[in-house]
Parts: sequence; structure tokens; C-alpha cells
Amino acid sequence: MKNTYHDRLEKLMREAIEELHKINIFPAESITGIKANSRAKRRLGCCKRTVNRGVEKFEIEISTILEGETDQRIKEIIHHELLHTCKGCLNHGQKWKSLAARVNHIYGYHIRTTAEIPTLDDGREKPYRYEIRCTKCGNTGYRMKKSKVVKEPGNYRCSKCGGQLSVKEKSFWN
Ligand SMILES: [Zn+2]
Ligand SMILES: [Zn+2]
Repeated sequence: MKNTYHDRLEKLMREAIEELHKINIFPAESITGIKANSRAKRRLGCCKRTVNRGVEKFEIEISTILEGETDQRIKEIIHHELLHTCKGCLNHGQKWKSLAARVNHIYGYHIRTTAEIPTLDDGREKPYRYEIRCTKCGNTGYRMKKSKVVKEPGNYRCSKCGGQLSVKEKSFWN
């Protein structure tokens, strides 16, 4: 049962490619594979292009930070990267943008230009998605996953002062 995240990524990429084909968008044939990346702290995905003796190849990497996410969310990132393999789409220029807009429109995705993970305001590299803040003393904690506190902050109290907690979700996408 090892590498299940990788298997999942492969399956989602196959699905994503099919979705694109159905609407006449053709990612490069020369995608060598999809890899799980556990080192990238700030990028959710990347598309690596190599040209060796005139032969172009692409490899897609998806961060393991997304492991707890829904298939839909992960596929948004995969689509983002797949579109980079289309002709003239290596950057986020007009062509890439119009393809992304088409995929979003037809399939209801939210593919964005940037896929950066928010880090703490002081610049520390701690990716998080939910900020839990005490409304009384300002004591702040960060969570990546939708834990019990995140779901129902009203059931919990600040560990420092007993104040009420509020939760803010950071956008992953801009
Ligand atoms: Zn991109
Ligand atoms: Zn407090």
C-alpha cells in the first residue's frame, strides 16, 4: 500500500487529461509523469520542462501538502500544470489564461494563476490554511487541516486567557 498518494495523483491526472480532451484542449503528449513533492513549501504544483537534443519533455509535481484535499482541489492544481504543457502556455500569458478560463467555465473549477501557500505574516515558512485567533488576547494558532477547533471554534476557548476564538480561512490562491 505504499505510494497511494502517487497512485491517486496518476489517476487524477488521467482524469484531468480526459476532461481536457473532451473540450479540445490538448496537453503535451510528452508528459513523462506526475510526482509527489514533499519538499516544496510554498508551491502547490509545478511543471518542469526539459529539452534534450530537441526533444521536449514535461514532468508535473504536486505538493504533498494537498494530500488531505478533495480530488477536485487537487485536480485544479493538476489542470493548472497540464495547461502549461499546451503550446505557448509556459507562462501565465493570455493563451494560458483563456484556456484556464474555459476549463473553469465548463467544469466549474477554480484554476488560478498563482498556487502559492500562504505563510505566516512574519515570513516564517509555515504553510497554513486556517488562522485561529483569540478575540480577547490575540493569541494565534495555525492549522493546515480542518480540525475540530476550525469547524466549531465556539466549542473551544483560548488556552491563555479563556477568550473566544475566531477562525479565518486563508485563500490558497492569491
Ligand atoms: Zn503556473
Ligand atoms: Zn486569549
